[in-house]
Amino acid sequence: MTDPLPTGATIGILGGGQLGRMLSVAAARLGLRTHVYEPGQNPPAADVAHRVTTASYDDVEALTAFAKSVDLVTYEFENIPTSALDVIEAIAPIHPNRRALGTSQDRLVEKNFLQQIGLTVAPFADITDAASLDAAIARIGTPAILKTRRFGYDGKGQSRLSSADDAPAALDDMAGAPAVLEGFVDFSIEISIIAARNPQGEIACYDPGQNVHKDGILHTTTVPATLPPRLRTDAVLLAANILNALDYVGVMGVELFVTPQGFIVNEIAPRVHNSGHWTQNGCAVDQFEQHIRAIAGWPLGDGSRHSDVVMENLIGDDVAQVPTLAREPGCAIHLYGKVETKAGRKMGHVNRIQK
Ligand code: AMP
Repeated sequence: MTDPLPTGATIGILGGGQLGRMLSVAAARLGLRTHVYEPGQNPPAADVAHRVTTASYDDVEALTAFAKSVDLVTYEFENIPTSALDVIEAIAPIHPNRRALGTSQDRLVEKNFLQQIGLTVAPFADITDAASLDAAIARIGTPAILKTRRFGYDGKGQSRLSSADDAPAALDDMAGAPAVLEGFVDFSIEISIIAARNPQGEIACYDPGQNVHKDGILHTTTVPATLPPRLRTDAVLLAANILNALDYVGVMGVELFVTPQGFIVNEIAPRVHNSGHWTQNGCAVDQFEQHIRAIAGWPLGDGSRHSDVVMENLIGDDVAQVPTLAREPGCAIHLYGKVETKAGRKMGHVNRIQK
């Protein structure tokens, strides 16, 4: 086991979005530096990171120099090309590990893994063409959702089928990409668990948050979730099982559907998660610091909830409400420094402390 990262060490972060930005702030608070690798110009994390490399994920020279300049590498999004990870891993360790990343990058691999460790997922089928889709609809039924196996986020790469008649249009939406068909889950609520594990095998989980989506994008997370204490414990144990099974190091977001028959795992994200932003104002140690602590080999921090919180995302024009929000008691504002406002773009979020 390697020693905990000391003051002045540098963590490489793949991706310079808002998650990379908030990770960089957390690292700085612990006396650590970050070096962000991001292909796009002026990423949100650039304002706060110690160093930024602007280069594409197929630039072997830039990836090599980046990996040599850091003590370890983490990432803020899943869809990093395997070839880039191969270059980096030959030089610097990557946390969370490649297995966790590979599992979450492909919905089919992810569902098979979750089933193998005894968890329940929605009925699903591998879809490669019209015939496999027809067979899957015959088995799973409708309503159902066709999702691309890879590169989906915020409800993108998804098509809903209310009947078998929708199959051709849904398949067209996938544009030839490998997909999975999922049976539609009749859930009462959606929750997520933000869980952390360090190299010593310590695990810390935050209280489950209750999520509401709008147009496929997370709108609010409320803690505590409306969940009986027994189920709260079950959810935390379930997340801990996933982390142990993957020998995971870092923070993970686990999204669950709550149904009368029990939990159904929707997906796992091997990174800090939008539904964990409430921890910034609800806990002594938030998910960003917890991730940095875990990957740096530090003891995990106290993630117990000291306040009830409602997190609300500021999407697109919502950001125009900031002057009003700034006057609201108990409202903590977190903005990502994005200059251009676009519809559907996450511009920031607020955490409202509930009295
Ligand atoms: P995902 O990108 O898989 O997280 O899906 C985005 C959102 O779509 C989820 O948070 C749910 O609200 C909804 N959704 C996804 N899959 C299903 C499903 N199998 N049944 C019901 N709702 C779903």
